[in-house]
Amino acid sequence: KMAGSAGAAADVSDLDRRYSFHPFTMLAEHERSGPPLVISRGSGVHLEDVTGRRFIDAMAGLWCVNVGYGRDELANAMRDQAATLSYCHAFSSMASDMPAVLSARLIEMAPSAASSPMSKVFFGNSGSDANDTQVKLVWYYNNVLGRPQKKKIIARSRGYHGVTVMSAGMTGLPGLHAGFDLPLPHILHTTAPHRLWEGHGMSDEAFTAKLVDDLEQLIAREGADTIGAMIMEPVMGAGGVIVPPRGYYAAIQDVLARHDILLIADEVICGFGRLGHMFGCDALDIRPDLITVAKGLTSAYYPLSGCIVSEPVWETIVKGGEHYGAFGHGYTYTAHPIAAATALANLDLIASENMVERAGAMGAYLHERLADAFDDHPLVGEIRGFGLIGAVEFVARRDTPRAFDPALKVAPRIVAAMIERGVISRALPNADTIAFSPPFIIGKREIDAVVHAARDAADSVM
Ligand code: PLP
Repeated sequence: KMAGSAGAAADVSDLDRRYSFHPFTMLAEHERSGPPLVISRGSGVHLEDVTGRRFIDAMAGLWCVNVGYGRDELANAMRDQAATLSYCHAFSSMASDMPAVLSARLIEMAPSAASSPMSKVFFGNSGSDANDTQVKLVWYYNNVLGRPQKKKIIARSRGYHGVTVMSAGMTGLPGLHAGFDLPLPHILHTTAPHRLWEGHGMSDEAFTAKLVDDLEQLIAREGADTIGAMIMEPVMGAGGVIVPPRGYYAAIQDVLARHDILLIADEVICGFGRLGHMFGCDALDIRPDLITVAKGLTSAYYPLSGCIVSEPVWETIVKGGEHYGAFGHGYTYTAHPIAAATALANLDLIASENMVERAGAMGAYLHERLADAFDDHPLVGEIRGFGLIGAVEFVARRDTPRAFDPALKVAPRIVAAMIERGVISRALPNADTIAFSPPFIIGKREIDAVVHAARDAADSVM
């Protein structure tokens, strides 16, 4: 028997190496060497590994642990609900109390256009399955309306919408398609509003005009009568923390409205305060027909997602019963009572501690500090962000931007060097970008430590 925490760490690492099939991992390397970090505790903005090393989690897990780790308010709500009613399904009009209360609360807070108020919530378990459900809703809606050809979905390159067959297809990152025969032919991608690579040196007006023109051309090529919806993250997360130019959403929404194309807002990262507003749609004046929420809804204490459906879409879907009978979609865990109780406690905590305002204030400080640390750096192509989400993209050449050879693994090496300095960040796929998306409760001194570690790590690598 091995002694002490180092021995225990080696045991767990070995079990993981031998038996765990990891997502988004170079599998052969993992089998040889095991995980770089085995975490066993979390509190506030900190994680601790099995050997007792402490880290600031500058990513809030995967952009999701928004209220921070280890909050008793959430743990108690989960335990109480498990003891009171651990499970209840929602098929055939069965219901339980917590999901009903949560639905009402989400409809009350959801961003709505006066012309199409939000009406109903369908619960799932993850952002991926919720976006998959959105596609099914769009297809069903157009079938009910007697336009079975209006089914294609437009997404954006570099967008991230998850990993189910449809959601991975909508995701605009080649690494999620390779080897999986994706995307399926129903999915189209248009240009990402990524100024560094798609609009370098352009004004907001010129860049917006170019992006709108790209979208118009795609719609003209395919035929508007074949396109059911467009899906967008208000601020793109995993694809690079990409903030669109001014005027972009107003112009894009005009195009969609003209062609009777529904808009799905993927609020999985932005929702519940990340941008310093309750929803990304509030922050950027987006008026969607369908909204996807997950992650921050429970601060990832329990898996839960939702599709929020506007009144006109809902009314059409209800009419589907005349053609198709009972609505034939739903998960065992749709409207899970523990998930709903967790979400309610999480929303209470966000409200009682003014965390949305706090995310905005800490975000402003983060962007100030990132600019101080990286503005003059010769290999920084762009510093981006909005609210409490930020990124630094490194380039081989700055004036006419040129990317590093991916084989150099610049961003992954910076992230590894940050871990040595006690800070967990993420290298985003498909570019040398490192991301920052800490829990809303992070303080200024911790932000200083994160940014200092990032600059120091970058200097150690380049
Ligand atoms: N949509 C967005 C914007 C996301 O960032 C993610 C996950 O990172 C997803 C969807 C997929 O969510 P999940 O991983 O819970 O399936």
